[in-house]
Amino acid sequence: MIVIIGGSFAGVQAALEIRKLDKHQEITIYEKEKYLGYVPNGLNQLLKGQIDSLKEAILYDEETLKLQQIDVHLESECLRINPTSKQVIIQQHEYTKTIAYDHLVIAIGSIQRPLAAEQGANLVYQTKTLKDAQHTLEKLQEDILAVAILGGGIIGIELASALRQYKPELQITILEKFDHLLELAVDEVITEAIVNKMSKNNIKFYTGIDVEAIQGNTGAACMCTNQGIFEYDMIIKAPNLEPNHKILEETIALDIDGSSVVNERFQAENSIYVLGDLLRLPLMPISEKFYMPLINNSVRTAMVAAHDISGKNILKFESTKTNVFAAFGLTIVRSGAQTRNERFITYSINKSSGVYSLHSEGSAKIYTVIFVHEDTNEILGIQAASEADISSFANLFSVIVRGKMTVEELATHDFFFHAAYASHVTHFLNEIALDHLTK
Ligand SMILES: Cc1cc2nc3c(=O)[nH]c(=O)nc-3n(C[C@H](O)[C@H](O)[C@H](O)COP(=O)(O)OP(=O)(O)OC[C@H]3O[C@@H](n4cnc5c(N)ncnc54)[C@H](O)[C@@H]3O)c2cc1C
Repeated sequence: MIVIIGGSFAGVQAALEIRKLDKHQEITIYEKEKYLGYVPNGLNQLLKGQIDSLKEAILYDEETLKLQQIDVHLESECLRINPTSKQVIIQQHEYTKTIAYDHLVIAIGSIQRPLAAEQGANLVYQTKTLKDAQHTLEKLQEDILAVAILGGGIIGIELASALRQYKPELQITILEKFDHLLELAVDEVITEAIVNKMSKNNIKFYTGIDVEAIQGNTGAACMCTNQGIFEYDMIIKAPNLEPNHKILEETIALDIDGSSVVNERFQAENSIYVLGDLLRLPLMPISEKFYMPLINNSVRTAMVAAHDISGKNILKFESTKTNVFAAFGLTIVRSGAQTRNERFITYSINKSSGVYSLHSEGSAKIYTVIFVHEDTNEILGIQAASEADISSFANLFSVIVRGKMTVEELATHDFFFHAAYASHVTHFLNEIALDHLTK
């Protein structure tokens, strides 16, 4: 019997993959919410008019899994894990029950951490779960004039952009603790392109903000910071995620940041696998471990564990931290390492950046940055931003990084040309590599 705790991207993928590999295995998912796999970007999609209801952002349904003989229990929270007796305690409404397992898959993901400063304050909202998003949406539908977003990373910037589209007259301010917006996400060249767009969209922001206290009542939320007192109708938190490790504390080994200590197949111990947002993963191509909460990472950790549980293949997963986000009319694409990762490695990372034509002359511009190993000239990372939809480049960048292509190889790498299709006789990736070599 395989018991999976957490029915989101990692948990459901693990169940589906194990079922593909083994038609007879008993598989049961226990999920504490009423749904399986809510994509936390749902609120942004709704604010931008891409979906009509938050429920459309739910990726899986119970019935499809049940057709594959995967037993699903919703509103079923795991309270405790006992590795010695190989049992879990599950609470379903007012009942608790003890369930035995042969293999346990823990996929309880991440949380948006409550801030010490917000203790007892109303008017502080967040967006990761469907419940949170619903609550935030209800408040936004009231007569709101001024919103603060706490956190100027990808989550905060995407939210600001969606809010601007939803209510053009809304006063939107981003408060960020680091000295730069998107400090951990992208290079300053890309940040600059986004900040330009933000100022045209009348988005205010403050960096280096330390929130000391938040006092909220029904009227206004008052934020005391190292840079003064700010008042808003509502505050939406957009902090970095962190592992949801509370019930694991006395069960398995945890790292200092609360991520689980696992081997290459994501085993915490013989019969326990830990997946997705509970883990730090090696970042390709520098192989240092980082906390990189992404759906693409979660499902791939599940694939590795499923094959191991079924005794089929020994798979391996290292993340290239490939992701795409969109804000203020720009699509931003990134993969691999960046200069900021230098403090974890023994060599320097050289960088080149430029603005190129996406296809032929006169086509959309693309801001591009490459990060290069100073000794080997291997491409360690690529980032780009453009007003055109460049999302499909994310996977190309990821393959270049994963394949450790050198700048010399990229300079003359073969990309197609056909006059009838969007293409260029010299690709922008050839051009940035050539510019890097000749500078
Ligand atoms: C606003 C926002 C936007 C994002 N956008 C993107 C994006 O565009 N692309 C991307 O790749 N990533 C995105 N992410 C990150 C992504 O949401 C996470 O990486 C992903 O949800 C992780 O999946 P997971 O299955 O590991 O964990 P989670 O999705 O966190 O799921 C954990 C599941 O476990 C359940 N659970 C928790 N505790 C228990 C318990 N004790 N018992 C039973 N069940 C339990 C939870 O209810 C939940 O369903 C975004 C995150 C946020 C907050």
